[in-house]
Order: sequence, then structure tokens, then C-alpha cells
Amino acid sequence: MAQSGTITITPVTSLTQGEDKSANLVGNVHSTLAGGAVDGPGLRFVLFMSGCQMRCLYCHNPDTWDRMGGTPRTVDDVMEEIGKYADFLKKAGGVTVTGGEPLLQAEFVHEVMRRCKEEYGLHTALDTNGLRAFSLPDDWFDVVDLVLLDIKHIDPAKHARLTSTTNRPVLEFAQRLARMSKPTWVRYVLVPGYTDDVNDVEKLAEFVSELKNVERVEVLPFHQMGAYKWKQLRLRYELADKQSPTDEVLGRVKKQFEKKGLTVV
Ligand code: SF4
Repeated sequence: MAQSGTITITPVTSLTQGEDKSANLVGNVHSTLAGGAVDGPGLRFVLFMSGCQMRCLYCHNPDTWDRMGGTPRTVDDVMEEIGKYADFLKKAGGVTVTGGEPLLQAEFVHEVMRRCKEEYGLHTALDTNGLRAFSLPDDWFDVVDLVLLDIKHIDPAKHARLTSTTNRPVLEFAQRLARMSKPTWVRYVLVPGYTDDVNDVEKLAEFVSELKNVERVEVLPFHQMGAYKWKQLRLRYELADKQSPTDEVLGRVKKQFEKKGLTVV
């Protein structure tokens, strides 16, 4: 499990002068998916990076938590894979980097996104929990066309209970993205008994409605599709008996966001 959040980039070969340094960066990649349809606009190449410092009780990818897990790959290697689909991706959607938490490997991720744009003109999306963004300068995000920002909870204590982390850096990052006018989609996982409280949703909707860069809110119903991974990893899964939200609750929560003038899907 990734605890420290340390960004570790390992050079694998020595460089000759003028060589593209990014080729030698190595990142730990959990997996890739060509043609993902739920991580940004259109059909996308999805790069899942290893490592996450949150411990969301509802996480459906606990197998991505280990920062040193997955496969060490160079930027060149990843770019070669993306290149196979570049013509298609340019028309159909783009590239999304997710995880895990991609900002734990910020240098590697930046190089992949920079080259996606420069070499192929691809649309880039970054799916992040926002916790580590404070450590990066604004211009780091120049290579990102769209941020998919996961806000887990508006209430600090409930956020800590749900994720074992504080929500302050996440909310501050959301406000910073607004100041940067960076196109952003907010993602909110709806878990009965944890994130469906009327007053909490109201506060979150109010907070998000003040961010003029937010193009849409995605309310994602909790599901049990990742439950087997917790079992495989021998992790204690608190939500084993939790049901998905009812259509009624899902509809109510979506309406709460819509009433604040937000586009909701
Ligand atoms: S931030 Fe995402 S990857 Fe990390 S624990 Fe939460 S749901 Fe899982």
C-alpha cells in the first residue's frame, strides 16, 4: 500500500546530450485500457497508475493502492502503446490518466500527458483525488485539458471516516482549479449511509456551484463490483453488506445538484 506519497522516478539508462529525458522516466503502471467509456469524454485510452494514499471504504480498485505495485514502464513504452490508437483516439476521445492516484507519480504522468498532446494532439484528462495537487505548480496542469476531480465528502470528519484522510487539500484544489479556469468534472460516489445525507449533499452542491469551471457533476452510485478484490487482498471490507443507492435517493441527490444550476449525469 502506498503510504508516503513519495514521488519516485528512476532513470534506467544514462542519457546522451540532446536525448529526450522523458524516455527514461519509469512509472509503476497498474494497467491500461483501450476504449474506456466512463473516464472522460468519448472513448479513451485509460492509464491506471499504481499507488493511492486514500483508503476509501468503497474503493473498487484496492489492487491499485500499492505505489510499488504494477509494472515498471518507461514513458517511451507507454507512448508506444498509446501511439497504436492515436488516430482513433484523436477522433473518438483521448487519454485519461487515473489510478490509484496518478499525482503520486507526477513527473511520469506529466511526461505522458505532455507527449500525448505534443506528438499526437490528443485530449488529456486527469482523474485525481486531489490530495497531492498542492505540491505542484499551476503550470504543471498546462498539459491537462480536463480534470476529473473526485470529491469524497464535504464534511471533514465524515471524509476522514470514509477515506482516512483530510478533505481540506481536496477542496482547496477544487477552488484553485476554478481560479485557473481549468475545465473540471466533479465526481461524487453515492454510498447509502455515508454520502447521501441531505444536508451534506446540499453543502457540497453549494460549494461546487461556486466553482465556475465545473462543467458537470457525475453522481456515481456505489456498487459491489470491486468486493472480490478486497477478499483477494485479504483486506477487511466494511461495506460488504452495503446496497447500492435506490433510484429514489439517486434522483434526489442529482436534483440537489441540479437545483444549484449544475449539469448532472
Ligand atoms: S481515491 Fe480512488 S483509488 Fe484511492 S482509495 Fe479512493 S477510490 Fe480507491
